[in-house]
Amino acid sequence: MTIDLHLHSTASDGTTPPEELMRLAGAAGLGVVALTDHDTTAGWAAATQALPPGLTLIRGAELSCRWHGEGESIPLHMLAYLFDPADEHLVAALARVRESRLGRAERMVALMRADGIDVDWDDILAHAGGGTVGRPHLAAALIRAGLVADTQEAFSPRWIGNGSPYRLPKDDLDVFEALRLVQAAGGVTVFAHPRARVRGRVVPEELFAQLAAAGLDGLEADHHDHSPAERAEVRRIAAGLGLFVTGSSDFHGTHKKVRIGEFTTAPEALERIVAGATGATPVTGVGR
Ligand code: AMP
Ligand code: FE
Ligand code: FE
Ligand code: ZN
Repeated sequence: MTIDLHLHSTASDGTTPPEELMRLAGAAGLGVVALTDHDTTAGWAAATQALPPGLTLIRGAELSCRWHGEGESIPLHMLAYLFDPADEHLVAALARVRESRLGRAERMVALMRADGIDVDWDDILAHAGGGTVGRPHLAAALIRAGLVADTQEAFSPRWIGNGSPYRLPKDDLDVFEALRLVQAAGGVTVFAHPRARVRGRVVPEELFAQLAAAGLDGLEADHHDHSPAERAEVRRIAAGLGLFVTGSSDFHGTHKKVRIGEFTTAPEALERIVAGATGATPVTGVGR
């Protein structure tokens, strides 16, 4: 049973529509997938309706969070599974984050245009098609303008990557607030790629105990942005705190090279997610 619990669709910054993503997962022979678009549940309905026979969908999201430490604050991603998508507090919080992403992306475009970079906000919005807007949409505009060859190049400090003057912060959820919101909505939480130093600064190790005490359930260990040493580090931290570990592709379609199902989760971890959730249930495709 192949289990991949972290996939993005066009409901956020993936390039595959949710229904196509489910067909792709089925064709790749996966047994269980989670749809985890950034700060939205907008792809849930289409994915559910398109489930091929035998494929199980774990409905989820990846929340843009921030840890406010002493004198520093670090952005991080929290995967949330099987929460109630109608929970009013969580719905409002996700809407705030998406709204802030819009303003931030528009300001990033204005900064680039002021420097003579030919990207157009209306064009970018149209290509995002109503999905949660993120830097990959700006990367796609840079590719269309012929300014960079691929997403990887767009994510260099010269363009919109870490260290770029065009990279503006967004209004992330406080991570402890996010844990409270997801729990109150009956969901289960997994800290996404928590040791991915290639993405920038990572949180101090002491924070994991505080997050676990605040209700964090699991840690994502096997991820393409983790080195083998970082994967081992995550397993050690999780074992010390009684958290489960997951492995997932974080598939984004053509934005990244990773294949769907390239990293996978053990059935025991999936069982803990399903057993711990009360906000939504897994859904399995039936024959038609
Ligand atoms: P944002 O949330 O708008 O700051 O954009 C971050 C997103 O950009 C991540 O969720 C990834 O999908 C994508 N991303 C970040 N770094 C890279 C990279 N080096 N190559 C491709 N995609 C990336
Ligand atoms: Fe993304
Ligand atoms: Fe992420
Ligand atoms: Zn992701």
